[in-house]
Amino acid sequence: MELKVMKRLLAQLVVPAGMAYALLMAAAANAAPYTATQLDTARQLRERAVAGDSPVWVLLESLTSEVGPRLAGSAGDAKAVAWAASQFRNLGFDRVWTQPVTFPRWRRGALRVDIVEPAAQPLVAIALGGSPATPPGGISADVVRFASLEELEQAEAAAVSGRLVFIDRRMARSADGSGYGSAVVGRSRGSLVTAAKGGVGLLLRSIGTDSHRLPHTGMMRVGDGTEPLVPAVALSNPDADQLARLLANGGTVKVHLEVDAGFDGQYTSANVIGEIRGTSAAQEWVLIGGHLDSWDPGTGAVDDGAGVAITMAAAKLLADLPERPKRGIRVVLFANEEQGVYGGKAYAASQSGNLAANLVAAESDFGAGRIYRFSYHVADPALPAIRAIFEALAPLGIADGGRQAHGGADFGQLKALGGAVVDLQQDGTAYFDLHHTADDTLDKVDPAALNQNVAAYAVFAYLAAQSPVPFDSGTLPAEE
Ligand code: ZN
Ligand code: ZN
Repeated sequence: MELKVMKRLLAQLVVPAGMAYALLMAAAANAAPYTATQLDTARQLRERAVAGDSPVWVLLESLTSEVGPRLAGSAGDAKAVAWAASQFRNLGFDRVWTQPVTFPRWRRGALRVDIVEPAAQPLVAIALGGSPATPPGGISADVVRFASLEELEQAEAAAVSGRLVFIDRRMARSADGSGYGSAVVGRSRGSLVTAAKGGVGLLLRSIGTDSHRLPHTGMMRVGDGTEPLVPAVALSNPDADQLARLLANGGTVKVHLEVDAGFDGQYTSANVIGEIRGTSAAQEWVLIGGHLDSWDPGTGAVDDGAGVAITMAAAKLLADLPERPKRGIRVVLFANEEQGVYGGKAYAASQSGNLAANLVAAESDFGAGRIYRFSYHVADPALPAIRAIFEALAPLGIADGGRQAHGGADFGQLKALGGAVVDLQQDGTAYFDLHHTADDTLDKVDPAALNQNVAAYAVFAYLAAQSPVPFDSGTLPAEE
C-alpha cells in the first residue's frame, strides 16, 4: 500500500463523514479570512442569482438560437466569436479581447450506413470528428463485434483484416460521469487500432446513456497524421442493439458504409476573453469560463453553451456590485475544446510566464445540471479561504468534495503548469443522454438549475477575488 493511500484511509477513520480532513484542519487552525461585510456580499450574490436576477437565460437563448451549432472551423465558430465579444461589451466588461487559436479544420459531409445482409435496413449513425472519408462508392464488408476496445486490442489481425469492426461497449450512467472514461477509449483509439489490424472501418456504439435513436459524435484520436486511420462512425444505442442482435443470431452481417469527411487545411479561431477589473493595483484575476465551440448536430446548449452563459452571467453580477472585489475576474471562452483543447492550450501557453497572476480557475463544462460538490486543488495556506467559500456555497446544496480537482479540460492546462483550480461539479446523471447529439438543445435546460450554477460561480469568484492569500503559494497536493 502506498503511503499516501494509507494516510487517507487513516484520515477517513478519524474524520466525521462528509467533511474532508483538510477542511477540518483549516477550520481549527485559523482566523477568519473574510470580513462580515464580504460574507454578506457573497450571500447577496447567491440570493440574487438563485432568484433569477442575472442574464444567464438570455445569454444561453441568444447563443443557441442566434448562433446555433458552433463546430470548430465552421461559419458558426466565427459567428460565436463575434457574438461573445459583442455580449461582453454589452454587459459592460472593462476589457474584451481575442486570442488567436489555430488548428486543423475538420469538415463533415454526407453519411450513409446500411445493413445489406441478412436484411437490408438503414442504421442511424454520425461520423466521429477526425474521421477520414471512405473511397468513392463506399465500402461493404462483414462486421466483426468486440465487447470493448481492450478486446479488439487483443484480437489477432486475421480476425479483423478486411472487416468492419463493431465496438459494442455500453456506457454506464452516474452523477459524476465516471462511466465515460472507460467507454470513451473506444472512440479515441478505435480507428487507429482497427487500421493497425487491417480493418476497413469502425462502427462504434455511441458513448452515451440514452436509448434514443440519436448517435453521439465526438473526437477520435488522429495521431500525427502519419498513422493509418479508418473511417469511423458512432451508431445510436438502438441501432447498436440491432446490429448486436443480428450478430448474436450467428451468420454473416454485412454493412455498407459511405462517409464523406476529412481535414481541410488550417483554421484560426479565437479564445474570447472578458475582464472585470478589481480595485487593487495588483494585476491578478480569478478565472472562470467554458468553451465556445460545440459539436454540430445540436445547438450546443448543455455542451457548452451553459458553461459560457453561467460564467458570463456570474461575472456580470460581480461587475454590478457597488464595490468591486480586490482582484479582477477574467471570463475565458475557449476555442475548439472539442477537437483537442486547442484554446485551453493557447491560453495556458500565453500565461506560462505569468502564472501567479492567474489566482485560481474554475471551468463549467459538464452540462446544465445543479452543482452538488465543490473540490479544490490549492496549497495549504489557502485552505481557510476555501473553507469559507465552501460554507458560502453550502446553502446551495453543495457538498465538500475534497482536494482532488481537475480544472476542466481547458483550465486543466493551467493546472498542469502548477496553477490552482477548483471544480464546481455538476450533476451529470442526464448529461450523457444529450452529450454530442442532436438532442443538445435549449429545451433540455432547467432555468432553476442554471440559476443555482450562476449563484455558485458568483460566490466562488467573489470570495476567491477577495482572498487574503494566493491559492497556489506553497505546495500543491500531489495527484492520486
Ligand atoms: Zn464540453
Ligand atoms: Zn463536448
